[in-house]
Amino acid sequence: EKVLVPSPFRVQPPCPFHRQCGGCQLQPLSYEKQLEFKQNKIRNNLIRIGGFSPEHIDACMEPIIGMEDPWHYRNKAQFPFGYDKEGNVVTGFYAGRSHNIIANTDCALGVEENKTVLETILAYMKKYGVSAYDETYGKGLIRHVLIRKGFASGQLMACVVINGNKLPEEKTLAEELWKIPGMTSVSVNVNTERTNVILGKKVRVLKGEEKIEDTIGDVVFRISPLSFYQVNPVQTKKLYGQALEYAGLAGEETVWDLYCGIGTISLFLAKKAKKVYGVEIVPEAIADAKENAARNGITNAEFFVGKAEEVLPQKYEEEGVYADVIVVDPPRKGCDEKCLETMVRMRPERIVYVSCDSATLARDLKYLGEMGYEVRKWRGCDMFPGTVHVETVVLMSRKDT
Ligand code: SAH
Repeated sequence: EKVLVPSPFRVQPPCPFHRQCGGCQLQPLSYEKQLEFKQNKIRNNLIRIGGFSPEHIDACMEPIIGMEDPWHYRNKAQFPFGYDKEGNVVTGFYAGRSHNIIANTDCALGVEENKTVLETILAYMKKYGVSAYDETYGKGLIRHVLIRKGFASGQLMACVVINGNKLPEEKTLAEELWKIPGMTSVSVNVNTERTNVILGKKVRVLKGEEKIEDTIGDVVFRISPLSFYQVNPVQTKKLYGQALEYAGLAGEETVWDLYCGIGTISLFLAKKAKKVYGVEIVPEAIADAKENAARNGITNAEFFVGKAEEVLPQKYEEEGVYADVIVVDPPRKGCDEKCLETMVRMRPERIVYVSCDSATLARDLKYLGEMGYEVRKWRGCDMFPGTVHVETVVLMSRKDT
């Protein structure tokens, strides 16, 4: 393939690997056009999959929230380790639609510390002959490293995922990583399963703390390696601000925050509501959520471990729980129908849907639309510049009010 006539929107991409790497699909497109593309993607899904009329969707659209500097925005990266054709240990990213590793320690979306962490681990592997994991045979030791940085705190986490219980010369590796400015958490995660799920369940600290700290707005969060935490802190603040605005809280409301992770949205909401209940499937995340509430002196938030589609129906049927506002922020597959059905039965005044996949969002809005709710406003928020992914926030409220 070659470019015959360049598009007027074509720009020089900063990363030499953008074509092979599966991460950034839109790098050669000007940022302004990327935003337009993403807004259209959401709009088209709402119309095509959601079945809403173009007039309605356009009338309640608010302009997509972009970034001022759309590079090096990611606070988290998970780099796989493997071998190149010559048999050298390498790390980088998977090529698009494959598990071949493209050696690259300097990703244009990540923080600059990634490179130092990766080079430290590679040097350690070479020096002590530590093997990389080979997923074809399920053999070899180092699978991935998870690197996370608190943008506000400057704290750095490196969690090495291994196919075994222990690394040779563990202390030496920990000491080497500890020299990197900002490093406050070095751990290993044990994953001996033959799976493409990156993290196992067990974390063992080698040096420092298991968790790092970060701040969004005026809420402080402690984040464990196993918990979900939004990857773009600059945009997260704007996204949560938008969700909070759509929630329209005056101080007397009861709010349910489903798929709450470490309670990030919940604690934002708690400051403006009477009571917030959070539900999340990962127990470590709920432990973080409770700790985060306490740390911030927030006493009107309560958290439950479990599937949203099980906890909510159970609480509703057994205890008749109530909601003025329900916020959902599910993973890409969207909400389970049992969850949506219960939400409708609870008859909240407003539903705020935060979504990272506008196709499943549109499917779920269609259901809610048929069950008495109307889309009032929607807005894209670009959490993932350079890629085709986009976050959306939607405000729905009951048609009969
Ligand atoms: N609102 C949070 C997390 C959003 S990511 C934030 O902004 O940080 C989606 C979360 O849903 C993840 O933490 C994931 O572990 C959780 N999750 C996935 N399936 C779930 C389910 N069926 N029920 C409840 N939580 C679920």
